[in-house]
Amino acid sequence: MFIKDTFLKNETTLSFEIFPPKNNEILFNIIGELNKFNPGFISVTYGAGGSSKDRTVEIASIIKNKYSIEALAHLTCITSTKEEIEEVVENLKENKIENILALRGDIPEDFTIGKEHLYRHAKDLIHKLKIDTNLCIGAAAYPEGHNECKDLDMNVKYLKEKVDAGADFLITQLFFDNNNFFQFKEKIYKYNIKTPIAVGIMPAVNKTLIEKIQKLSGVIIPDKVENFMNKYENKEDDLRKAGIEYASYQIEELIKNKVEGVHFYTMNKPDIIKSILDNISFK
Ligand code: FAD
Repeated sequence: MFIKDTFLKNETTLSFEIFPPKNNEILFNIIGELNKFNPGFISVTYGAGGSSKDRTVEIASIIKNKYSIEALAHLTCITSTKEEIEEVVENLKENKIENILALRGDIPEDFTIGKEHLYRHAKDLIHKLKIDTNLCIGAAAYPEGHNECKDLDMNVKYLKEKVDAGADFLITQLFFDNNNFFQFKEKIYKYNIKTPIAVGIMPAVNKTLIEKIQKLSGVIIPDKVENFMNKYENKEDDLRKAGIEYASYQIEELIKNKVEGVHFYTMNKPDIIKSILDNISFK
């Protein structure tokens, strides 16, 4: 099933991102737990956080073919050649995976972009996928701007290029301030972007991790989140509770405002997701 069609339903689509874990035992446990929430889809990262690229399609295939959950395979293009991209696409086809999140990826520090690297922006990959395949294509959106481009209008212009190239749905980078998302939504409407958007949510239950992500992504940390992360820095249980409470509040407000999808960056921790989802109705 194409993920774009899950957004046609009246209720908010629930979905999860996982990264390739160390082994299949852990993987089966994570998917088994997440499956209890009847997700619209589960996405698998590509090469992010040191995880192996080769396993993305393999894991997406397990999600789709063993668990019958719709799978979304991430793919980054900046360090790949045309042939490498085509090999991944072939592999997706063989495994009957119908959905792909087309990303540029971060440019590694010591990496030189050569002539063989044809796809300099995500829109170039989206364009190729649209021509070569029947895949349903997702793309990344940045409500608070991207680290390399903080000009929100330029960001939205580039987002429009991705949509025009063929992106069928969007998933946002995590954010903690819903108002920034609501303003972004107004802005993209002005640019005539009507593509469904799932909002990316990561519970702030680990201060070190959130600070690392803040450096990488430039996500804005509101005072409220900063304060509870500082207050409970050395009290794991209290921080977990505060992070879960904040994420629950954030999602409830987003659902009230009729977001099309809520996409959890699970960090492979279904227990935390469960604590949040126990508080929330997705109707
Ligand atoms: P692009 O849309 O190409 O944008 C990259 C930069 O180029 C931005 O600053 C943009 O403003 C600028 N830009 C875009 N078009 C143009 C243009 N025409 N001219 C000039 N500048 C332009 N990374 C991974 O490595 N693996 C993953 O699995 C992964 N999953 C992700 C999932 C989600 C939902 C999100 C939000 C991000 C994910 N990332 C992942 C991170 C992502 O790869 C980085 O944020 C990356 O730096 C940008 O990727 P992009 O696809 O948004 O690139």
